[in-house]
This record gives sequence, structure tokens and C-alpha cells, in this order.
Amino acid sequence: MRSRPPFSLSMAALLTLVVGVLISAILFASLRRLEHDNADIAFRQHAKIRVAAIQKSLDNSMRVLKDINQLFVAFETVSREQFRLFAEPLLARNPYIQALNYHRFVSQQERPAYEATMREQFPGFAITENQDGKPVPARIRDRYRVVDYIEPKQGNEAAFGFDADSYDVQTQAMQRAIDTGEPSATGLFQLLQESGTQQGFVVLMPIYRHGAVLTDAPSRRAAVIGDTAAVFRSSDLIVKSLVTENFLGTPEGERNISINVYASAMLNPVWNEQSLIFGGGAAEPVKPLTFGLPTWLLYDQPAPYQQAFDIAGKTWRVVVSTPPVLFTSQSSNAMWAFLAALLFSIGTAACMQTMVSRSRRIQRLVDERTLQLRSVNEDLIADIAARKRTEQALQLRERAIEASTNAIIILNANAPNYAIEYVNPAFERITGYPADEAIGRHIGFLWGKDSDQSGIEEVRGCTLEQREGHAVLRNYRKDGTLFWSDLYIAPVRDDTGKVSHYVAAQYDITATKRYESELEFQTNRDALTGLANRNLLRDRLGQAISYAHRYGHPIWVLFIDLDRFKFINDSLGHQAGDVLLKAVANRIQSSVRDTDTVARMGGDEFVLVLPERTDAGLSTGIVRRIMDAIAQPLTIEGHEFFISSSVGVSVYPSDGLSPEELIKHADVAMYRAKETGRNNFQFYTSEMNERALERLRIEGDLRNALERGEFVLYYQPQVDLRTREIVGVEALIRWQHPEFGMVPPIRFIALAEETGLIVPIGAWVIQEACRQGKQWQRDGLGHLRMSVNLSARQFCQKDLVECVAAALSESGLSPEYLEIELTESLVMADVENAIGILRELKALGVKLSIDDFGTGYSSLSYLKRFPIDVLKIDRSFVNDITIDPDDAAIVTSIISLAHSLRLQVIAEGVETIEQLTYLRRHECDQIQGYFFSRPIQAEALGRMLKEGKRLQAEMTGTLI
Ligand code: C2E
Ligand code: CA
Ligand code: CA
Repeated sequence: MRSRPPFSLSMAALLTLVVGVLISAILFASLRRLEHDNADIAFRQHAKIRVAAIQKSLDNSMRVLKDINQLFVAFETVSREQFRLFAEPLLARNPYIQALNYHRFVSQQERPAYEATMREQFPGFAITENQDGKPVPARIRDRYRVVDYIEPKQGNEAAFGFDADSYDVQTQAMQRAIDTGEPSATGLFQLLQESGTQQGFVVLMPIYRHGAVLTDAPSRRAAVIGDTAAVFRSSDLIVKSLVTENFLGTPEGERNISINVYASAMLNPVWNEQSLIFGGGAAEPVKPLTFGLPTWLLYDQPAPYQQAFDIAGKTWRVVVSTPPVLFTSQSSNAMWAFLAALLFSIGTAACMQTMVSRSRRIQRLVDERTLQLRSVNEDLIADIAARKRTEQALQLRERAIEASTNAIIILNANAPNYAIEYVNPAFERITGYPADEAIGRHIGFLWGKDSDQSGIEEVRGCTLEQREGHAVLRNYRKDGTLFWSDLYIAPVRDDTGKVSHYVAAQYDITATKRYESELEFQTNRDALTGLANRNLLRDRLGQAISYAHRYGHPIWVLFIDLDRFKFINDSLGHQAGDVLLKAVANRIQSSVRDTDTVARMGGDEFVLVLPERTDAGLSTGIVRRIMDAIAQPLTIEGHEFFISSSVGVSVYPSDGLSPEELIKHADVAMYRAKETGRNNFQFYTSEMNERALERLRIEGDLRNALERGEFVLYYQPQVDLRTREIVGVEALIRWQHPEFGMVPPIRFIALAEETGLIVPIGAWVIQEACRQGKQWQRDGLGHLRMSVNLSARQFCQKDLVECVAAALSESGLSPEYLEIELTESLVMADVENAIGILRELKALGVKLSIDDFGTGYSSLSYLKRFPIDVLKIDRSFVNDITIDPDDAAIVTSIISLAHSLRLQVIAEGVETIEQLTYLRRHECDQIQGYFFSRPIQAEALGRMLKEGKRLQAEMTGTLI
């Protein structure tokens, strides 16, 4: 597992984030701008509405004032009651008016009368003036402007009877009003009826005498008789007018609005408390914290709204303002948009980051996978190569099977009837059934109705027990003719070791069988008489011996020779001789028991085997009876003959234990009988053992041959087909017999084997061959491979390996130049043991070859297990290579098989240029044979090497 790489912010994600934040900021800023402007507009809207409300109240007040003044213009006298009735509804509609007054001018002269009249209605009434905020009786002045009517009374009691002109502000305003005839407002002052601190003001409007002509200021001054006034408490006025319109206070969700009203005309006044009618009187609004950013970005801060308007000659100014409000304190779209955009950017950046890191991860994965794939690919290529090799090997095997001269049958072990799955071309040649007629059937279809064969049981046994086996079977061809086969069956296992198939090799042995039965007769029966021959005799005698041995019975062996048979034969001719022999045979046969064996040894010699039986003991009487039977007169071609016989008897076990010995000794005894005058019988005695001595002499000769140095080694060169040079020799033994001359090995090797003499002889061969090989090397004749034949007896010899090692070390020949030839039968006799010995030999460093390859039973699987280097194709195949296509095919497949097992191939017995050409074409490595050279003596071979004899290029035709 790879460790996770440390987190790293990708450039793309970072960029996305930065751009996102920037866009968010721009979005925020523009939305804020918009919001700010909206707030400004909204605020101005609010402000205007409020100012309008105030203005409306004042306008209404003016109208009220004018209306009430109009009352005095319309009527010459207006009673107190009329005034009240008129004022009351007006006051109710305009609650911000503190009072409506009627001021009456009263001169100093009229004062006492007026006060007196008033006292009648209002006891204690007096014209008053203001002293420290309290009404006191007015000081004496020329004229008083007395508050005569005042509505509502309640709350305004203090002003009743008050001399309004005792205030300068009033007087000034009154003067202006009289002169213009228009309403005129006073400045701010403390109202008499005021108990608090708020300021008030009064708007006056003159009343002129009825009928007076008012052209200019003096005429107005002369005509004035009083005035009507509206009294306001400045703060109440504003509050109430706003209350009337419901504009006071801050309704929920609205911004805090402060309204300042100044009774000042100055556009840029130093706002002070004196001119402030209403409001907090706040100074310059506080500059909010902006962190260097434009204020509008963070705050809604509408500019104060101000408006000036004229009230009865006085200019008022209303300033509506609102404190800056942080944008977050209300639901700000810009904020949400900013947050949303920010979130979106972060999200997108995160997304980008995941995408980038995922694509990095994918890239990494792709890299890893590519690496893995590469190695898998390499494995695959190796695998394919290995498979190809196996396939080639398989193809070779397939071709070998197809080429085989014997029928190969593959059975499916899992099919219910072991159905045939494959047959090779030889199958059709042998059986006449084409493959498609055989496939799917049980192999037994070849047996037809002939199902009572012991071989069939064996085949069944093999399939049931999943083992190898061999059976001889009678089969029937498609045309119904019989043929015999040797069937070798073996299980084939699949990779899991389960038997999936059986392979059966079917050898057509019909010819052999026929030959066998002929041979059986030939070998066991005497052609002339039908009696047992020498072979059968040996068999029967052998059986009798083992039987006798078991039960402790003696056996008599009778050797009968007819006396003077030669004479009859010579005088009457062969035919008469034959008749006589047949007749004698019949007589002998009928004079013994059926179970006794009568054999003719050739010529006029007969041998009888008479085992003792419990019911009848052996006695010389039997011998006599037989001799008598033979001696009965016999007429041939008109001549009567009396045939006598000489009989020798040997007795088992005293005279011998083997058939040969018993027969030989009976023979010896018969000679003795002849010597003693014919027509008699003799029992064997040890003195008679002369012929046995003869055999011993041959044996002795052989034994002495080694001591006398009568053996010589001949060498036959082996030539490489590529270089055309001699690369090795095979050492072949010869016996230089003093009497018989040069004896070839076939004449004595078997005897040497039998007697065990082969062991010292073989040892000598190895020593001599090694010595000679080294000698050639010393003579500078090259480093030849020296092949030596090994017999079965030698192979079983315990100290074989030491013997070879000793020969090598004594001669000084390097082991790689020694090659030991073994036959298939030799190694196949006991495979496991053979492998052990071969390994030991191999360990010495010597080369191993299989001699006469192809003649014995060699399983490919075994061949693979043997550590061998060279295959020698047997002479018999090479011999027919150019005439018999089967042999040619076998040679070809042996060569390719050997090469597939990395073995060298030598063809033996190459006698013709055709054979050589064929072998060369099929890539045989080396050849040996009369074509190049017969086996020759060491000296001759030395000369050959010196001369540098090699295969001629022109001789090999296509060679080189
Ligand atoms: P082998 O091992 O197969 O030896 C080859 C035989 O083929 C030799 O016969 C050789 O003379 C003969 N030969 C070579 N080229 C040709 C050819 O072109 N045509 C024909 N028709 N024959 C050719 P040889 O020397 O008579 O030996 C016969 C067998 O005796 C050998 O057969 C081998 O099995 C045995 N033998 C020979 N020397 C020894 C030995 O030292 N020890 C043992 N144990 N056996 C030996
Ligand atoms: Ca040989
Ligand atoms: Ca051979």
C-alpha cells in the first residue's frame, strides 16, 4: 500500500478560490452600492413624508388662524360663546394647536371698566403680565393687548387676561402683522401656560375695524382693534403633527430617524439650542469605523435631509437624519449574496481541488497500472514462449504418434464405455476401419464375437484399476479377417493427477503368431516322426525335473540309438530310412505311457523321459520292453529287418540336475553301451563324462584368452556430418584364436556373459580403450571420443563405477572423452537402479549413450529421466532407410525426438551414400558404418587420423 501524499492545494483550486473571492467581493460591493443607494432613497422618502407632515400641520394651523380671523372679519362682534363654538371643532381636528386666542386692544382709560365688566363674569379677573413666569397685574401702559377669548380654556388658564404685548417678541410680531395684514409668527419664547421647559411661539393675525380702508401701514395701524392668534408649543406641534400622521417613533424594521426642527433661516447655521424647536439637537453625525474602506460599503448612511419653509414670516428648517447603520444589522442581500458567492467559490475550489487530486490519484494509478501491466506483459511473453516450446514438443509427439507404424488408440476414461477418442493412421492401415468409424465406439468392437479371451479380462482390469497392462488379443478387421495384436494400455493423467484417458498401442503380431505356431511345431516337433524335438524335450524334461524335485521322485532319461541304421539308410535309400524311423517312433511311443516324453534328437537318436510315478516304479524291465518293441521284425519294400538299439540311461538326480546334463550323460552312457557291443543298455557313470569336458575346454580357452592376450580391440571411426571429420571411435572386441583365427564377438560374447567371464574381459576392454585413446592424444592425433560397449552382466557388477574410474586414472584419459554404450533392455530391466548407476557414471564425467536405439522397448518418459548424451540409431533402421518409408519416418522422428531432448544422434551401420544423404538431410549429427570405414586395428586407425581422412564433400552430395 502506498502512503497517502501530504495534502497540497493545487494551483487550479487556489486560482478558483481567489477568483471566486474576488468576484464575491465585486458582487458584494456592487450590491452594497445598490443597497446603500436604495437605503438613501428610502430614507429621503421617509424624510420627505415627515417634513411634509409637519408642513401640512403648519399649513393647517395657518388656515385655522385665517379662518378664525375671518370670523372677526365677517361679524362686527363675535361673542365669547361664538368664538368657543367656532374654535372647538378646529382644535379637535388640529390637536397640535395649543390654543386659539382673541386679543383685544384695551387702552389705559378703558382698563378699569373692562376689568370690572370682566369680573362680573370672571371674578378676580385682571389684566396681567409676566413676572418670573407668573402672571401678576399688569403695570400701567398706554394700551394692552389682552387675551380675551382663549380656547380651550383648560390648560391655558394662566394666559387668560394676559397682556400679550408685555412680551417683546409678541409686540414685534404684532407690529409686523398689523403692517402687512398677514399672519406673523413670533420667535421662540417661554409660554406663560408652560409648566415645562419647552419653547413656544404664537402666530398673530390682526383684526381691523369694520369698514376701515387699509391702504398702507399707517392706515392699518390706525384701524387695528385686536388680533387672533394661534399658540403653539413648538415641540408638541411637531410631535402631534407627526403623531397625527403616525410618523413618530421608529416602527419595527425601520431605521432610526431623528428629526430636528430649527426656527432659523440660516442655510448653514450653527445649530444651537436656541433655534432648536424639536429634536435631539444632535451635532455632526458620528463618523463610523470603516477600516479605510468607503463608508457606503459597510454602512447605510443616507445624507441628512433638510428642508426650509416659511411660517408666517419665519423661516423654519427641518433636518431629518439617521445614524449610519452597519449593513449586517439588517437583512442584507449583499451580505447573503456575498456569503453565497463565497461559499460557492469555496465549494468550487474544493471541487476543483478534489478533481485535481482525483486526477492526480488517477494519474498515479494509471502509472502504477502501466507498470504492473508491463510486468504482466513480460510474464505473458515469457509464458507464451514457454507455451510455444511445449506446443512444439507436443506437435512433435503428435507427429511421432501419427507417424507410428503401430496403431495408437486413445480412450476417454470418463466416457461410459471408454469411447475411442482418437486413432492414428496406422490404425486404419491395420484394421481397415477409418477413424470416423472407430471414434466413439468401445475398443471391444475389434474383438467381434470372440469375447472369450483372457486378454480382454486384462484390458478390463487395466481400465478398472487404472493401471498399465499388456494383453495379446484376437481382433477382426473390417473385412472380417483375424489379426493378432499385442495391446499395451496405460492410463493418461491430467494436471490434477486424475486419469482422463487411456492410451493403447496396438502391435499387429499376426505374422509373428503365424510364424510362432509354425515355429512351435518346428521347434517342438520332429517333422518326420511328429515326436517331440530337442526343444520340447528340454522343456518337458525341465518340467519333469521340477516336479520330481518337489516330490523326491527319480527320473530316468533314456538315450536310444539304433544300431546299424546307417547301413539300412545307405543300402535302401533315405525314403526307406524314413519309413523305418517312423515305424520305430511309433513302437517306442506305444511302449510307454502317454505322459512319458518321446523325442527324436535327429538322425536315429531318440530320447525318452520316464519320470517315476507312485503307481509304477522304474525298473530295467521298462528299458528291456522298449528295446524289445524296437526289435520286432519289420518289413520294408519286401525286406524284413530286425533293428537292435543301444540305450544309455542317466538318472535324476544322481547323474545330473539339469536337462542338458541328464541328456548329455544319457548320451555318454549310450556311447558306452555301443562300445560294449550294441543291443544293450548302460547306466551312466562319472567316467563316461567326456563330452562335458569339451565344453569346459572352450570355456577355458576363453578364460585363457585374456591371460594369453588373444583379445584385440578394433576401432570403428564415427564421423561428424557437419565438419565431415572423425570425432570418435567405437572399440569393438575380437578374439584371435590360435586354431580358429579371428573370432567375431557374437560367437563368444554370449558365452562370456553366461560364464561371467565378460566381467574381466569387459574391464580389459575399458582399460585398453582408455589407454589407446590417451595414446592417440599423446601422438597428437586429436581428442577423439572413445565409445566402449557395456554388457548386462557388467552393468550389474557392483564395482563398475570404481572399475571405470580406475581405468581413467590409470590411463590418464580425461573422462569427457570416454563414452559408455548401453542397450535399452539393459537400462529398462530395473529402471530405478539403472538411473542410480547412470547418475554415478555421469558424476565421473563420462558420456553415456543408448546403443541399438529403436529395437527395444523405450518409453519416452524414461528416456527423459536417464542422464544420457547420445542416441545410436540401430543398424536395422538405417539399413532400410531408403527402401522402407516406415523406417525412414522412424529415423526422422528419432532424430527430432533426440534433438528435442538435447541429445546427439549417431546413425549406425551406414553403408551407402543414399543412407548418408538421407541422414544428413534430416540433421543426423554423426554416422558410423562401412561406408566410411570398417572397424580397424589401432595402428590402421592411427594412420587414418594422421592422413586426416574425412568424408569427401562430393561424396555427401548436398553436404556443406
Ligand atoms: P554393436 O555395439 O552394435 O556394434 C556395432 C556392430 O556393427 C559391430 O559388429 C560393427 O562391426 C558392425 N558394423 C559397423 N558398421 C557396420 C555396417 O556398416 N554394416 C554392418 N552390417 N555392420 C556394421 P561387431 O564388431 O561384430 O560387434 C557385434 C556386437 O558385439 C556389438 O554390436 C556389441 O553388442 C558386441 N560387442 C563388441 N565388442 C564388445 C565389447 O567390447 N564388449 C561387449 N560387451 N560387447 C561387445
Ligand atoms: Ca555398440
Ligand atoms: Ca549398435
